[in-house]
Amino acid sequence: MNIRYWNRELETIDRSSLEKYQLENLKETVSWALKTPFYKKRLGEAGISSSDDIKKLSDIKKIPFTTKDDLRSAYPYGLLALPKEEVVRLHASSGTTGTPTVIYHSQRDLDRWTELVSRSVTMIGCGKGDVFQNMMTYGLFTGGIGLHYGAEKAGLLVIPVSSGNTKRQFKFMKDFQTTFVHATPSYMLHLYSKIEEEGFKLSDFNLKKSMGGAEPHSEDMRKKIESLFNIDMYNNYGLSEMNGPCVATECVYKDDMHIWEDSFYLEMINPDTLEESGEGESGELVISTLRRQATPLLRYRTRDLSVINPQPCRCGRTHRRISRIKGRTDDMLIINGVNVFPSQIEEIIMKMPEIGTNYLIAIEKSGALDKLTVKTEVGPDIFSDDARDLNALRHRIKDNIKAAISISPNVELHEPGVLPVHEGKAKRVIDDRKND
Ligand SMILES: [Zn+2]
Repeated sequence: MNIRYWNRELETIDRSSLEKYQLENLKETVSWALKTPFYKKRLGEAGISSSDDIKKLSDIKKIPFTTKDDLRSAYPYGLLALPKEEVVRLHASSGTTGTPTVIYHSQRDLDRWTELVSRSVTMIGCGKGDVFQNMMTYGLFTGGIGLHYGAEKAGLLVIPVSSGNTKRQFKFMKDFQTTFVHATPSYMLHLYSKIEEEGFKLSDFNLKKSMGGAEPHSEDMRKKIESLFNIDMYNNYGLSEMNGPCVATECVYKDDMHIWEDSFYLEMINPDTLEESGEGESGELVISTLRRQATPLLRYRTRDLSVINPQPCRCGRTHRRISRIKGRTDDMLIINGVNVFPSQIEEIIMKMPEIGTNYLIAIEKSGALDKLTVKTEVGPDIFSDDARDLNALRHRIKDNIKAAISISPNVELHEPGVLPVHEGKAKRVIDDRKND
């Protein structure tokens, strides 16, 4: 494999130089933050009135956490550190559930984001000669436009097709011989299930790689997508508050994601006690921007759960790695008193080859208890089999889930195409208990 590197020097920088660089940038970020009404007050209350109050990296602990609610309360301009005329773009959350959150970018901020994306795309071995079909939604959501400019900078031929319209996706994949796609894992599974129906064959395509993100997914789901398409799939982590995609990305070894520590300062906390998590312990990622001027964020609580992997990576990059996101603190379901992450159920489903590519988790009240139902699609041939086989499969799914989460679910098997289809982020959980 021909791997091209971008800004290799910064990627393999030794840890002590990296920390020096982080401290300089943290001080600068604090001075930018103090220009915003929100942080002027918040940092002032914590006794920080200038970047001189940060003398070493661990001084970051003097700074209070920033939360999503803080971003909402600062809407629209409370977190803007530059005069408005120096801002060239904003991204906002859709705001369907209340006040949106907004992140502003100067041209320099965009250039730096582009550089990180370019580095990430190059890290997985893409470059000149690759045809990149970007299947993420373009618009306020950062998945589409976020990858776009970085991929161009890395020399790829970019097709900004955006999400949806499966037939056109296939036509372009065939006609332009697309080698690389960016799509949610659930959309990749959906695509696969539609190839024949839309009149194509896998051999029409020249797909080599995909980058997946925007929704947590299990290692087994990755393996399933890789074997269905016969490609390499790389995990990517991002969030709109930290620009968008490519905050952390896997290298070719696919063994946890390198977080770009020259741009993001990483901490890990126990979400209940807010104490720092120990090495190798699971916790909530807390990230500070180190190079973004228009909207600096300090100690932002991402609500994403992961583990830091401090081991040196075979690729030689010194930026530490984080494990795939295990879930979000607010995704965790409590079912009859037991903590369950939807990803635990997905892991089991994806390990069973008889099960199709779509599933749904439903929870409702049944008297005083919670009732968990797992609905999955199975291949059409299984439905033509003996009803006893179907029943046996249903019991196997039930037993496997019970063994993993100690809750015995109802299992419903459906024919392909019955469960709702997702073209963006998948909605896999329907919790009806709150409506009671
Ligand atoms: Zn690596």
